[in-house]
Amino acid sequence: MNNRDEAVALDRADPLGALRDQFALPTTTIYLDGNSLGVPPAAAAQRAQTVIAAEWGEGLIRSWNSAGWFALPRRLGNKLAPLIGAAHNEVVVTDTISINLFKLLSAALRLANERDPKRRVIVSERSNFPSDLYIAQGLIEQLDRGYELRLVDDPSELPAAIGDDTAIAMITHVNYRTGYMHDMAALTKLIHEKGALALWDLAHSAGAVPVDLNGVGADYAVGCTYKYLNGGPGSPAFVWVPHRHQNAFTQPLSGWWGHRAPFEMNPLYRPDDGVGRFLCGTQPMVSMALVECGLDVFLQTDMQAIRQKSLALTDLFIELVETRCAEFPLKLVTPRAHPQRGSHASFEHPRGYEVMQALIARGVIGDYREPHVLRFGFTPLYTRFVDVWDAVQTLHEVLVNETWRAPEFAARGAVT
Ligand SMILES: *Cc1c(COP(=O)(O)O)cnc(C)c1O
Repeated sequence: MNNRDEAVALDRADPLGALRDQFALPTTTIYLDGNSLGVPPAAAAQRAQTVIAAEWGEGLIRSWNSAGWFALPRRLGNKLAPLIGAAHNEVVVTDTISINLFKLLSAALRLANERDPKRRVIVSERSNFPSDLYIAQGLIEQLDRGYELRLVDDPSELPAAIGDDTAIAMITHVNYRTGYMHDMAALTKLIHEKGALALWDLAHSAGAVPVDLNGVGADYAVGCTYKYLNGGPGSPAFVWVPHRHQNAFTQPLSGWWGHRAPFEMNPLYRPDDGVGRFLCGTQPMVSMALVECGLDVFLQTDMQAIRQKSLALTDLFIELVETRCAEFPLKLVTPRAHPQRGSHASFEHPRGYEVMQALIARGVIGDYREPHVLRFGFTPLYTRFVDVWDAVQTLHEVLVNETWRAPEFAARGAVT
């Protein structure tokens, strides 16, 4: 692409273009960080007002029934299900990815142990999001039964690492740093051929790329709602367990919301028959209610259309960075091949942190991930082709003028 008008023309022809109006976007920034925190749906402010003033303020305690609060984790789970190829009553929205992983890994280890007690290994990738690895480490230590976390350094090592000692392969579908995407169907098949269970983390997949959990026959999945699903900062995550595993799903966080009859106040824990057993305790209703505003936008389109635009956006971004910023030491770390690419594009730069701070100061918001990675997320519901053009222009200016050398851009905040 050689000029901005071509980007404008792509936006005019974009079938998803009108959906941008359903988001409350800031006017002076180009937001390329929806893979970390999505922007507010326009409906969210009104919804928050209703939940706080009417449901909480007027309805008070009655709203657990009258406003459907108690049922919300399941109702939202059912609304989210089609986006990830899940069936009705297989998903609940609850807790965080980290907490849900603890539940899933515990339940999966139990199931694996019943099938074959010799299987003591959880396989994952060293480049996985650290919290996933920390949770596995914590659980292994807690169980103290000789379980082991085996980490590979490259996806190509997975087939050899998953063996007859493996209980679970815990794989994140799209890597948070590089944007590398696994072939979920092929890898699930391989994991099953080796006799292990396939647990998928969809943090950077749900709402970003098509996912078909039942189609590929996966065993467990988690994901969050605050990234591509635009649920809001710290909005609850989701957990998926297919019907075939639900009865055998025993999780250690056996709180009252997972009980089959919580208001019987029975001293004995008896898990709910279905998805309810994934729950633990009282959920944050104000935050959870807003998740629905994000999901409602997805109902107006489909994941194939989103995927098509996502690839067009990341293709254009990669092309423009490599042509217009060719003289600078930027190295693409995201796969070029479409089947291996999620919805963000990452470049390494030796002074990546400073460059990103300089970009943010000029209104182009991406983020930085150690080591040296500039990460740019493309969320097709509200990102335009012209945003891609303008962002690369700004990147070029920051690099040509070396504005990133200003001392204030080297200071690190608690969150990068
Ligand atoms: C964002 C992300 C998380 C976040 O976990 P929380 O417990 O919800 O904070 C976990 N895993 C992956 C792969 C992520 O990308």
